[in-house]
Amino acid sequence: MPKSPAKSPGICYLVGAGPGDPGLLTIKGKECIEAADVLVYDYLCNPDLLRHAKAGTQRIYVGKKAGDHTLSQEEINKLIVKLTGEGKVVTRLKGGDPVLFGRGAEEAAELAEAGVRFELVPGITSAIAGPAYAGIPVTHRSHASQLTIFTGHEDPTKDETSLDYAKLAQAEGTKVFLMGVERISEITGALIKHGAKPGTPMALVRWATHGRQQTLVATLGTMAEKVKAAGFKAPAVAVIGDVVTERDAINWFENRPLFGKRVVVTRTRHQAGVLSRKLADLGADVIELPTIRIEEPEDLLGFGELVQDCHKYEWIIFTSPNGVDAFFKMFDKIYNDTRSIGGARIACIGPGTAEKVRARHLAVDLMPEKDFVAEGLVKALKEHQNLENVTILWVKAAETREVIANELTGLGAIVDEAVAYRTVAEKADNLEALARLKNEGADIITFTSSSTVEHFLDLKVELPEGIQIASIGPVTSATLKKHGLPIDIEAKQFTIPGLVAAIEAHCAK
Ligand code: SAH
Repeated sequence: MPKSPAKSPGICYLVGAGPGDPGLLTIKGKECIEAADVLVYDYLCNPDLLRHAKAGTQRIYVGKKAGDHTLSQEEINKLIVKLTGEGKVVTRLKGGDPVLFGRGAEEAAELAEAGVRFELVPGITSAIAGPAYAGIPVTHRSHASQLTIFTGHEDPTKDETSLDYAKLAQAEGTKVFLMGVERISEITGALIKHGAKPGTPMALVRWATHGRQQTLVATLGTMAEKVKAAGFKAPAVAVIGDVVTERDAINWFENRPLFGKRVVVTRTRHQAGVLSRKLADLGADVIELPTIRIEEPEDLLGFGELVQDCHKYEWIIFTSPNGVDAFFKMFDKIYNDTRSIGGARIACIGPGTAEKVRARHLAVDLMPEKDFVAEGLVKALKEHQNLENVTILWVKAAETREVIANELTGLGAIVDEAVAYRTVAEKADNLEALARLKNEGADIITFTSSSTVEHFLDLKVELPEGIQIASIGPVTSATLKKHGLPIDIEAKQFTIPGLVAAIEAHCAK
């Protein structure tokens, strides 16, 4: 009799997701996301982290936002116990560290009582990382050798508070409190009432470590008023003490060139990463709004036959990184030896495409010197050799302009078109981004191809007033112009680094 497969034992990882910057997740935390069958996450977890999950992982949002509980704590406890009991790998992601005001211990106790396996995976807490990203160290040899962290959730004017404000006020060194924006005047008032100096420097850091981080600096005595005047809202971490003055010298995060600029990236989710990362590294608050998605070509079989014959051509031409990916995906299905590509020489439209080819340890024989568009590639080929009767396989998207085929055929070449993929509208994956664009606006929107422009316009989203439009190069710009849109920024080098450089130069003005 066949043995029934062993039921996996089930485990729940209670993981600290860090304060927001996707780089501030531990390696173990990332491994837990990768291993998960189910991800249970909440409001303060950056949803970007979910991209580490394998395909098919179930995602359950149990977000808690003040006053708006999707699930009560009790329901969350029941949910993770149930899922783990069913034998699943459950990764429970909690903002910051799971046991610092995170109720991670309560969830652990429920799991322990139910007799299911669990692990606690610490994370980087906003209580320390938040101030650090505002240029404020929580301890410092000259100012503070002690750190007190408390919750601002409890109302100091009520009797049931378990916090002793008299002792807190007297504590040496730095004080940090979380969840305190709503009660800022009660908290600062209570500290002053019990003897803390009103002139003590104080800062609030909102959405710390995210691109949209905001910092408010005042003193213990003036902060409540400043919060009111600025309409400053949660979530924020508060830090009180002389360490706040260090910010004048080491405010690194907010001094990056694109800090304070909200930039929209319209590429496919899969491709957005490189551009988003470069912009975020320069300090931008990036909204990924995928407008397009890459799909297999209608005639996959026909594409496969051309790929199978690729070694029969004198040249293979690639005009996009997606084309290279699709070509080699098919190639690897047909062949298990890269040498099957034969003696075909390889031409690429620009550096991004060439990089993909080189990643396969294949040399790029030809690329335009600077005009990374179809016309530039045709010119380079024409100057390279007589094209009479030369056989060329052109790997392209269904919707690519016909320039290459038309011009090269005109020069006597024999061109076969291998349609490797299609670009279709992304409809499912952009609701959150659309909401952010509508509610928060944006400073710059980037377009990296004509299809991103056209599919963005199909979404019929109103562009926020004053938004600047950035284009990767002349072909994309022509499409923008065709639709009556202005071009405020255009890359000089028609590549992603070129686009980023143009945005940086524009913002430095
Ligand atoms: N376990 C979390 C804290 C949970 S309590 C941690 O270790 O960070 C929720 C509070 O944390 C919020 O009200 C806010 O005060 C603070 N917080 C969490 N993430 C934050 C962020 N990115 N920026 C500012 N405050 C944050």
